[in-house]
Amino acid sequence: MTEQTILTILIGITVFDFVFERALSFLNNKSALKPIPEELSGIYDEEKYRKSQEYGKVTGRFGMVSSTINFFVMIGALSLGWFGMLDSWLRTFSPVEPVTTLLFFGVIFLISQIIGLPFSYYKTFVIEERFGFNRSTVKTFILDKVKGWLIGLIVGGLLLAILVYLVMLMGKDFWIYFWVVVTVFVLFVNVFYTTLILPLFNKLKPMEDGALKASIENYSHKVDFPLKNIFVIDGSKRSSKGNAFFSGLGKQKKVVLYDTLIENHTYEELTAVFAHEVGHFKKKHIVQGAIVSVLTIGLMLFLLSKMVFSSELSFAMGGEITALHLNLLAFTILYSPVSTVLGIFGNILSRKNEFEADAYAVETYGSEPLISALKKLSSDHLSNLTPHSAYTFVHYSHPPLLQRVKAMQG
Ligand SMILES: [Zn+2]
Repeated sequence: MTEQTILTILIGITVFDFVFERALSFLNNKSALKPIPEELSGIYDEEKYRKSQEYGKVTGRFGMVSSTINFFVMIGALSLGWFGMLDSWLRTFSPVEPVTTLLFFGVIFLISQIIGLPFSYYKTFVIEERFGFNRSTVKTFILDKVKGWLIGLIVGGLLLAILVYLVMLMGKDFWIYFWVVVTVFVLFVNVFYTTLILPLFNKLKPMEDGALKASIENYSHKVDFPLKNIFVIDGSKRSSKGNAFFSGLGKQKKVVLYDTLIENHTYEELTAVFAHEVGHFKKKHIVQGAIVSVLTIGLMLFLLSKMVFSSELSFAMGGEITALHLNLLAFTILYSPVSTVLGIFGNILSRKNEFEADAYAVETYGSEPLISALKKLSSDHLSNLTPHSAYTFVHYSHPPLLQRVKAMQG
């Protein structure tokens, strides 16, 4: 393939991604105007319903502006050969190829952060603030960014350095070795997320004694789940939106409840949410998730190994010579349709797992408290109760509320 053909494909994929996303969002925003289905009546009063629609409209507009700007920057960079120019410029003072590669991604990371920063600030302190969700201070916001950058630089830099080293050392077979490295990394993050990463951003502490713990204790005993693994996290540091999740493998497994979830729910509802999370553990969804991501990464690295040495790819990106980093970046664009399709399959699997966890909670604890907890969560988050089916098919990792309620009512 000539470099011109490849460039056309790269731009074509970028345009397609953008149009596809915009079309889905358009359908979804229109769908939010539909009347609320019978089964979900009572979640919103008149005023709150209007507020939820306004929230949907404002976040939709925000998504459109930010994705449009990103789109034009990317099209500009591709068609004007900015990535190749950056490569040539870095070469004028970078001594060896691996250093150029690290610098190249460092600069790209920096630029994308600079473009993203005002959007991130606006989202938190204007949109979320206006609808009463924001509890973050400017200090927390800045600290979060700095910590995120440091982790990104250290972890991303380290993995990239290993990748470059393996490509130089192993040639085309690099992908198998790097797959092993990434697998170890994914397992490590899965196991230690709540012990090593989360505490950098939040305070995590074991649930205190009291009526809630007693209720959960009762339930845990019944289903044989070790109680010492229940934690409460200070989500209220950033947002009023409540949540709960299961994390970790083996001895490190934990159910984590947000303090903001505890604030707004009854003990029965919280025990039901807890039962749902235990369901994920009992049905082995965490192990399954880890296996799926390791397999996906293997496929991606295999495909990468087919293109990483191509000169045409570098030339299409505006480069003057073949460069690993130009090819890596071109690959992320070429891979994005595959990634979209795999993402859809991943979400189908995830939605199936959510139904299973719901069913487990219903079986072992009862349906009413979980249904009322989920309804309350939707209302507190000003959720769109009537999302478009095409949008949920592609993007929803959880089934829409209506489907969950219907499934639980049987
Ligand atoms: Zn779940």
